[in-house]
Amino acid sequence: MSKNTHSFQAEVAQLLHLVTHSLYSNKEIFLRELISNASDACDKLRFEALDNAALYEDAPNLEVRVAFDKKARTLTITDNGIGLSQQEAIDHLGTIAKSGTREFMSRLSGDQKADAQLIGQFGVGFYSGFIVADRIVVESRRAGLPADQGVRWSSTGTGDFEVETITRDKRGTSVILHLREDADEFLNGWKLKQVISKYSDHISLPILMEKEEWKEGEDDKGGEMVATGEWEPVNKASALWTRTKKDVTEEQYVEFYKSISHDYEAPLAWSHNRVEGSTEYTQLLYIPAKAPMDLWSRDNKGGLKLYVKRVFIMDEAEALLPSYLRFVKGVIDSADLPLNVSRELLQESRDVKAIREGSTKRVLSMLEDLAKKAAASAAPAAESQAADGVTDVVDKKEGEPADADAAKASEDAGKYAKFYAEFGSVLKEGLGEDFANRDRIAKLLRFASTTSDAATVSLADYKARMKDGQEAIYYITADTLAAAKNSPQLEVFKKKGIEVLLMTDRVDEWALSYLTEFDGTPLQSVAKGAVDLGKLQDETEKKAAEEAAEAFKPVLEKLKASLKDKAEDVRVTTRLVDSPACLVVQEHGMSTQLARMLKQAGQKAPEVKPVLEVNAEHPLVKKLERDEAHFDDLANILFDQALLAEGGLPEDPAAYVRRVNALLV
Ligand code: ADP
Repeated sequence: MSKNTHSFQAEVAQLLHLVTHSLYSNKEIFLRELISNASDACDKLRFEALDNAALYEDAPNLEVRVAFDKKARTLTITDNGIGLSQQEAIDHLGTIAKSGTREFMSRLSGDQKADAQLIGQFGVGFYSGFIVADRIVVESRRAGLPADQGVRWSSTGTGDFEVETITRDKRGTSVILHLREDADEFLNGWKLKQVISKYSDHISLPILMEKEEWKEGEDDKGGEMVATGEWEPVNKASALWTRTKKDVTEEQYVEFYKSISHDYEAPLAWSHNRVEGSTEYTQLLYIPAKAPMDLWSRDNKGGLKLYVKRVFIMDEAEALLPSYLRFVKGVIDSADLPLNVSRELLQESRDVKAIREGSTKRVLSMLEDLAKKAAASAAPAAESQAADGVTDVVDKKEGEPADADAAKASEDAGKYAKFYAEFGSVLKEGLGEDFANRDRIAKLLRFASTTSDAATVSLADYKARMKDGQEAIYYITADTLAAAKNSPQLEVFKKKGIEVLLMTDRVDEWALSYLTEFDGTPLQSVAKGAVDLGKLQDETEKKAAEEAAEAFKPVLEKLKASLKDKAEDVRVTTRLVDSPACLVVQEHGMSTQLARMLKQAGQKAPEVKPVLEVNAEHPLVKKLERDEAHFDDLANILFDQALLAEGGLPEDPAAYVRRVNALLV
């Protein structure tokens, strides 16, 4: 292949522009990204070589070398990993394959400061080289290919890149950065070592640099450091999770998290344990502070990095955690799984089942810990329970709560709210997905309620505030908080001072269908079935209601006839105080809100005809009894208004307007 020019995919060009214009305040991260790519390439080689040892050629020791040339102003990162074929260089270094990155690109606002933050959170991988380089040359040969099938890729990071065939004896990749004027600091061995140990100590491969020596200048000219030709490792090169807790600093835990998650922010909590039991493994699990762009994308399977006896096996091993914990990042290193384990095998492995259960419990107990700290700070008298997020690494069995440490209590107090705002909706999926842990998950849920606009009310809080004689936990689902709060269905509850949970999350309706009771108390939607306030209603109230219903019967029959196409049934209710009517669904029916949501999403929803409940005391309803001439119009207005009140639309809006106008004039 002679020299060929290719255009970057449009998104790459956009990304490159952004990288070079917004990330200069944190230049050094490029080194972390490139070393991490080099290390991944070595992991891939090691993995492929399990089946084909010949791929090692004559260099079985995997390593990364970092070298600089002051005169040429270049910095070169070389690995002897899997390498790139020509096609792979074109594909991987010219496009953005990951849907998450594309999603990320679509969110850019054009405001540099905001975008820089976003990009930082995201991690830009290879392209971050252009923060410090105005030209990047990649020379590579894929392991297993002959020497004359190497590739040279080069670009100035603007619109296009060039690719040509080269001869390269050594397998693997060299990334040669031609540094920009303002990137001089990276032509300095000391500086490079400092950055490498900051970001890459946990990388399990040796990262080598040439030893330097001081050489006096001639003729009284100042001396300088010169390379000696001898290479030495500059990182610790022991996989971080294999060390004991006391050998890992908090900063190292955070840096490790950033390197595996491509997240910019520090995690909210982490837990590092060696688990011994039916199966032996090390777990290092992190709760991120921010949801990734693709949390809701179908491509996001979540999952942890899987190692077997320190050999990297796969990324995003979704079998290691249930899907509702897909936000958790981390590493599992198993001592028992076979090295050649595949994704399919993972699904069936008993060891994996044990790891999954253990890791699930561990995550739930981390969350319980965060929730406890939030509660402790809400009640200042309570014992403070701060922790640094680190739990003991020494041979803990799964399921034990993390130990606490008295620092940083106030910072920790806000962590659960932060977690919940980002991941609460995902956690709720667990009600339907993980029956074994349903009670623990239910305890972790937080809702807004008629006493709190913020989603801070736990089911236990609610129970503690229940009125004497109250037999259910009441809730309402709606599209928005305002719609929920002003829903007519709440009127009698407000009048009686009974708290109602307000649920406005899309998954609530579905998730709650799996939670019929909490701690022995049933959950009851106030928009489903007839209201039965049970003991909350006194005898005289009950009697009055029955009498009113009896007197209203003839009107009711006429209403049913008028609305037979729209309403499943019409009945008198005591749940309304100020509104004339509201819609409810049958006890076990799908709520109108959920049906509407399904329709909007283009899915088939069963036709649910709601029940119209009327407030016999309301003047508009009383008018029905007197105004024979307008009965039909009034009946339809009553129904359509009830629909409007809960965020729906009348089937025939024009007819609704006509009817109202006829009454207005
Ligand atoms: P990411 O590493 O997140 O996938 P990058 O933009 O950093 O994204 O890299 C894109 C792809 O280029 C990688 O997935 C990998 O296939 C390839 N690549 C990058 N660096 C190397 C390397 N040193 N050796 C082999 N392949 C590499």
